[in-house]
Amino acid sequence: MKIESVTAEILRYDLDRPMADAQIDIGARIIVLVRVRTSDGVEGIGEAGAFGGAEQTVKTIIETQLAPLLIGEDPRMIEHLWVQMYQGTIQLGRRGAMLAAISGADIALWDALGKTLGAPLYLLLGGNARTMPAYASGGFYMPDKDVAEVGAEFAGYRELGYRAGKMKIAGADFNEDVERVRAVRAGLGPDADLMIDANNQYGPREAIRFARAVEDQDIFWYEEPVPTDDLAGARFVRESISMPVAGYETETSRWGFKALIEAGAVDIVQADTVWAGGITECRRIAAFASAWNLPMAPHNFAGAVSGFANLHLLASLPGAMFFEMDQNPNPLRTEIVTNWPVIDAASRVSLPEGVGLGMEIDEAAVARYRVG
Ligand SMILES: [Mg+2]
Repeated sequence: MKIESVTAEILRYDLDRPMADAQIDIGARIIVLVRVRTSDGVEGIGEAGAFGGAEQTVKTIIETQLAPLLIGEDPRMIEHLWVQMYQGTIQLGRRGAMLAAISGADIALWDALGKTLGAPLYLLLGGNARTMPAYASGGFYMPDKDVAEVGAEFAGYRELGYRAGKMKIAGADFNEDVERVRAVRAGLGPDADLMIDANNQYGPREAIRFARAVEDQDIFWYEEPVPTDDLAGARFVRESISMPVAGYETETSRWGFKALIEAGAVDIVQADTVWAGGITECRRIAAFASAWNLPMAPHNFAGAVSGFANLHLLASLPGAMFFEMDQNPNPLRTEIVTNWPVIDAASRVSLPEGVGLGMEIDEAAVARYRVG
């Protein structure tokens, strides 16, 4: 069995109502879909992270740098192919767009392997659970969105059945952000888990000040309080406050997470398969986290394929904690697959039982949003 082709396509959805976190304005949702086709007629599908207008760069890397390293190889030798892609691009790579491209190809290879062997990916990885607790992720900033609206947003998630939710902070002035957290706690109810996400915005002292201002709101985790590269600051924050610190989704690779974990920066480890190095590398990150007795709660935002990849990863890990369910309107999540998971009465999602990632792709929807 050989790899015959590796291609990438760009899907885009322009938002009717642009949104923002503390760091970036989001006017469109964009994903890079990766397809690996084998000589046995199997097609594996992956997704590469492509924030910040990097989608064309990531697509070009996949088709001009990674495809030549993969075509003709046995698609089942994923560890071998990961090393080939990483070492074969190392002088211009290691992180960023190159590792996002490798991540997309790696996920497609795992999907192809599951299809070839006739197994759902989470079982192929040695399944640990058939369902995962899920949380509603939202609470973004919008120009005309006030405190009452963000509170009502989370009351709506509670009505949908979610018993946990995550909101953005650090994008408004300090006091308004405190009010937003209180409004979301009131909307979610006292018995739900509430997470707050600063997206790297604060300096250490401001991060600590904010944690103390919302400590009475029973915060389940405090995500990315300070910049990812400020390891000393991250440790100072974590050791100064009572609530657990989660992060850093913006970190990538086992070496990045090794430094983060050894610095004592986090209580909960958040890697994302679409840019941290794929399923292969995130399994290594999880193994390292487990040696430090830290749970994994992967970041999950981009699109449908990344969601399935992160869900299968989670369900294969003994130390898995929570599945992130982005609530913002995004047809690249809800339309390009017809079996996107829904939460059950226990606020959990079930693993798809189809082979590979178990996605039922609607190719007409893919074509509708394809721009390159
Ligand atoms: Mg985050």
